[in-house]
Amino acid sequence: MESSQRTDTGRWDAVVVGSGPNGLTAAAMLARAGRSVLVLEAAETVGGGTRSTELFESGVVHDVCSAVHPLGRVSPAFAELDLASHGLRWATPDASLVHVFDEERALAVFRDPLATDHALGVDAKSWRRLVGVDADQLGMLVDEVLRPIGVPRHPLLMARFGFRALQSADRFTRAFDEEATRTLFAGVAAHAIVPLSTAASSAPGLMLLAPASVTGWPIAVGGSQSIADALVSCLLAAGGVIETGRRINCFDDLPPARQYYFDTSIRGLVAILGERIPPRVRRAYERWRYGPGVCKIDFLLSEPIPWRTPLPSRTATIHVAQDYAQIADAESAVARGQHPVRPWLLAGEPTRIDPSRAGDANRHVAWAYCHVPNGSSRDLGEEMIAELERCAPGFRDVIVASQVTTAEEIGEHDANFVGGDIGSGANSLRQLVARPRLSANPFRPNPYATGVPGAYLCSSATAPGGGVHGMSGYWAAKFGLRDQRGRL
Ligand SMILES: Cc1cc2nc3c(=O)[nH]c(=O)nc-3n(C[C@H](O)[C@H](O)[C@H](O)COP(=O)(O)OP(=O)(O)OC[C@H]3O[C@@H](n4cnc5c(N)ncnc54)[C@H](O)[C@@H]3O)c2cc1C
Repeated sequence: MESSQRTDTGRWDAVVVGSGPNGLTAAAMLARAGRSVLVLEAAETVGGGTRSTELFESGVVHDVCSAVHPLGRVSPAFAELDLASHGLRWATPDASLVHVFDEERALAVFRDPLATDHALGVDAKSWRRLVGVDADQLGMLVDEVLRPIGVPRHPLLMARFGFRALQSADRFTRAFDEEATRTLFAGVAAHAIVPLSTAASSAPGLMLLAPASVTGWPIAVGGSQSIADALVSCLLAAGGVIETGRRINCFDDLPPARQYYFDTSIRGLVAILGERIPPRVRRAYERWRYGPGVCKIDFLLSEPIPWRTPLPSRTATIHVAQDYAQIADAESAVARGQHPVRPWLLAGEPTRIDPSRAGDANRHVAWAYCHVPNGSSRDLGEEMIAELERCAPGFRDVIVASQVTTAEEIGEHDANFVGGDIGSGANSLRQLVARPRLSANPFRPNPYATGVPGAYLCSSATAPGGGVHGMSGYWAAKFGLRDQRGRL
């Protein structure tokens, strides 16, 4: 598709490489600012980590990667682009998260803080004090955390948050009396795929749990692809152009443009820009480390998962681990480059919350994944099924079809998830603070600059990091527009 919007010189104002949520957000921001924009995507379909597909049966929709979107729901970028007017609708269950321990026991974090209090019993007070936030605090936290790290805008809130966030999950959870509450928190903290004994390993738990009892943990109606589709609609309405099946391997593959935005991994960026990147920046990029991967299994089911406890039917996000040790041991093993002996699961059954994905035959859809060493080609499908069967006896009988995607295959499916690392970079303390490198000016940090004039990195390898929120693309576009206009 050629566009009439190219400049007189035949150049695009901006070429965006990659159509994940960050690339599409950057492209939409630039197009709405009046720039001619071309998006080039290696895959045959757009969306990167927000793609959905009919894996087994026509009309039955499975999310290929991202499934649950607490940060998407509160994203200032998605709000500014008014994705609702481009068709995005959220389905928000009343339980943000349910942790299933075994056949009988489960514990939930509800949208209603009173219901969460009731569920947590003796730990309710500590949970509210240490984890809970109200709508105002959530707004400030989002404003602070979903942007490049710099001088805080809300210093008091950040001092409070920072003190807790810097603790390891092991230490942080000592505040709770019940093993179940500690395990509940550990499951959320372990989304970052770091050992629970690591400094700042409580940070992801605190950030993800902040919206849990305010805006909730929603899924996108129709599948995560609806997020990409809404971004595409926004981009096309502003005159942008997308080409799929166009992998950019080197600089010469790029069409002429005034600016380039790379929704790629750091490895991909270095391959494309090569020697153009100044040595100082290149050295920082070479220090970049990838984290462990994930092994995922998708299910087509004849019936919902036969949980014995009613709670999991009220959520889109289920964690499965018998106790704290199961999560802690698995994360330590994976950090050492070993497969977990007892993997713990992140899982979901989206058709319970969004029946529009079920197809005409009224099927059910479920998924689960566990953490594994980076690049692992091991199929842990049987272990994951066994874990689900342990908590929901009879689960095997409702499986119509299943498909395992190993960490290695996840990396092949989307080049940003190097070795199956869904964060496109380890969530170590260093890489959380310097994502992907420290900015010289803390008053105006710009982690998107590559040192090559007019070239910006805008993927989740930049601040504020992983997850579907579009904020890396948003800020990269803001910096790019400022560089053209001389102001932000
Ligand atoms: C199994 C799994 C589960 C997840 N679950 C969740 C979840 O529940 N909630 C959540 O918020 N996040 C989740 N994530 C993470 C989320 O998907 C990512 O953080 C998010 O997609 C990052 O967006 P991005 O735009 O930076 O990159 P991506 O979404 O990875 O998009 C990058 C795009 O660029 C393309 N590309 C890369 N290199 C090139 C090139 N050289 N030329 C052309 N195109 C290129 C890729 O093909 C891809 O389409 C999950 C990820 C995985 C893999």
